[in-house]
Amino acid sequence: MKYTVDKNGFFGRYGGAYVPEILYKCVHDLQDAYLDILGSDEFKREYHQLLRDYVGRPSPLYYADRMSRRYGCRLYLKREDLNHTGAHKINNTIGQILLARHMGKTRIIAETGAGQHGVATATVCALMGMQCEIFMGKTDVERQHTNVERMRMLGATVHPVTTGNMTLSDACSEAIRDWCSHPRDTYYLVGSTMGPHPYPDIVAKMQSVISEEIKWQLQEKTGRDYPDFLIACVGGGSNAAGTIYHYIDDERVSIVLAEAGGHGVDTDYTAATIQAGTEGIIHGARTLVMQTDDGQIKEAFTISAGLDYPGIGPMHADLAERGREQVIAINDDEAIRAGYELTRTEGIIPAIESAHAVAALSHLRFRPEDVVVLTVSGRGDKDVETYLVHKDMAGEYGDF
Ligand SMILES: *Cc1c(COP(=O)(O)O)cnc(C)c1O
Repeated sequence: MKYTVDKNGFFGRYGGAYVPEILYKCVHDLQDAYLDILGSDEFKREYHQLLRDYVGRPSPLYYADRMSRRYGCRLYLKREDLNHTGAHKINNTIGQILLARHMGKTRIIAETGAGQHGVATATVCALMGMQCEIFMGKTDVERQHTNVERMRMLGATVHPVTTGNMTLSDACSEAIRDWCSHPRDTYYLVGSTMGPHPYPDIVAKMQSVISEEIKWQLQEKTGRDYPDFLIACVGGGSNAAGTIYHYIDDERVSIVLAEAGGHGVDTDYTAATIQAGTEGIIHGARTLVMQTDDGQIKEAFTISAGLDYPGIGPMHADLAERGREQVIAINDDEAIRAGYELTRTEGIIPAIESAHAVAALSHLRFRPEDVVVLTVSGRGDKDVETYLVHKDMAGEYGDF
């Protein structure tokens, strides 16, 4: 099973570009241009140079000795938390800002939930001297104040969105609305493998550097270039897409994704879209969506602001349906405990998003010789407050 997207942007039944008529031209221009630009020598040179000198790539592949002994396997952590701005998101924003520049765009818009994508976007706009407008739900503006200040310091304008639940999903809708009124000069810089075609494909390709590096790093460290297991957390699906990109057609590799269960998949307080969602259209793509019987989008619920999205990238809807991905819902308390566990066992405080991936380890059975690569999508500095407030969920680690 290869990574394949057809020319209309479908991954099996999922994907496509369901956009209002006023955006047809923008979206089609992008569809026509992106593959040539991404494939050009000039783009590749700029992109790889910035990844190396600005982002700090390659990110290390770290053998986690104490965690390995605990889980009875050979566990390697792919350290996206060590990137500039603290997560994998910068891989994508670096790529797309170059794409926008090649297309002659001068104004950048983006949506953000927790503010991580907003910060990564404001960062590359500062780097390139481009105008930056960030749409963020008012609720998120209030709960993610530090990131809002970072964006402002970087020169971005942050627009609090007051429609709907005032969270990520509403920020996406508002960004699309802005794009409709500025189709000519504006580039919409999407933060995950979601949105209308070609965004899911663009973002997957920009993040595929993760598995490109895993290949040669594993070869160096273990003498073979593939693991037995790949594990990543999944919100919209971009760090997972990058982690698995070069291994999708390699059946020797089991792929395990951790989605946010919130209070539990069978409650109303969940963000486990792959398990709790049904087919529908969200933000320009046909995919799995958490929705009511009459098609109203439900609010996603999880302790992790970065996984708080009621949709899922269409490539994952497809791969999960075909059985290529095993998807585990990790509840809030499991994620918090796993975040403490990694902190105390390896001295690495993971983002709460990434802690969901760590928690997946205890749901799996390993043989001692199994090589497991787990992507730590981001660092937990932004989440220290949340970890401390919820230390009652940390089990044996919470007693301090
Ligand atoms: C945004 C974010 C995620 C979720 O986004 P994906 O597109 O699913 O990768 C996961 N981890 C961190 C640290 C994030 O900031």
